[in-house]
Amino acid sequence: MSDAVDAAGAHDIKSAIRSRAQGAPLVNAQTTVVAVEELTPTFTRVVVQSDDLAEYVPRPADAVKLLLTPDGGAAELPHRGDDGLPAWQDGAERPVLRALTVRSFDAVDRRLTLDIARHSTGVLTRLLERIRPGDRIDMAGMRPEWHLPEEVRDVVLVADVTGLPAVAAIVENLDPEVSGVLYLGTARPADADLVAPHPGITTRVVADLADVAAEPPASVEAGRRTQVWIAAEAAHVRRLRRIALQDWQIASGDLLARAYWKAGRDSTEVDAENLVRYRDAIADGADLHDPQVAEDIDLGV
Ligand SMILES: Cc1cc2nc3c(=O)[nH]c(=O)nc-3n(C[C@H](O)[C@H](O)[C@H](O)COP(=O)(O)OP(=O)(O)OC[C@H]3O[C@@H](n4cnc5c(N)ncnc54)[C@H](O)[C@@H]3O)c2cc1C
Repeated sequence: MSDAVDAAGAHDIKSAIRSRAQGAPLVNAQTTVVAVEELTPTFTRVVVQSDDLAEYVPRPADAVKLLLTPDGGAAELPHRGDDGLPAWQDGAERPVLRALTVRSFDAVDRRLTLDIARHSTGVLTRLLERIRPGDRIDMAGMRPEWHLPEEVRDVVLVADVTGLPAVAAIVENLDPEVSGVLYLGTARPADADLVAPHPGITTRVVADLADVAAEPPASVEAGRRTQVWIAAEAAHVRRLRRIALQDWQIASGDLLARAYWKAGRDSTEVDAENLVRYRDAIADGADLHDPQVAEDIDLGV
């Protein structure tokens, strides 16, 4: 995977993601599970294969939605509605959607790898208890989540375990001269081993992202343009986003802040609430591909 962007003229992560998303087709894939592996005490790795992914050109940290049905059978696949949002035929039984990151993609065998953090309850967590090679999983995507402009060589990455597959993909695709810090929020320090070493990236494991201090990173102290990327539980993302914008004076275009989950709320509930906000925003003329719109909606800012 490469973090180059085909969006001519994109000068920061937000505009690059917006351009890429505007041109991206909705990829529906009917996949077959080819491997399930207990990767670490935190993660289950699921590898799926599908010829529907033949045209997929992966970029680091792309996000995909699993389309889950109660019996594990085929899901009704979405199309793009007039407003640009995924939509289903009238009367179709909508699957339950869960967002994950493309950890890696093998374009030759059309195999896509997902690393899923197990937790106490949830549709996805229950899926992991029964999933076997040969099972079918349908999915739709892909949402771009990463870009680094050539002129930015300093980064701050922040993730909890749900953002770890994304930062692992990001770090292994960074040019060697990029430098910065990765804050990883996990109760299991060994999770950091899933991120390949990079000569310029220092990994700091914290049990809780609330422990990430507000002191500016060295690149900000030195006055260098720094890109900040955050993917974690919503409350942590909200706090760290505020620190990045207000204390570190990161330009809004150089910040991507994504709520990957919300404590005490399941994704179905959160998505339903956000859908209403997206529809309102689109009706008011917002571009649904603009990450700023997603940031405002996801974080309620
Ligand atoms: C763009 C994007 C990419 C993502 N990539 C990944 C990925 O690669 N790997 C991954 O594991 N997750 C990833 N996530 C997060 C994942 O979608 C959520 O954690 C999701 O809620 C899990 O679904 P579930 O059915 O297990 O739980 P849900 O049914 O959504 O939630 C049930 C309960 O569990 C809680 N909960 C949800 N996630 C966690 C958690 N991690 N730890 C503790 N409690 C939790 C909820 O607050 C709720 O109370 C991503 C999310 C987004 C938006």
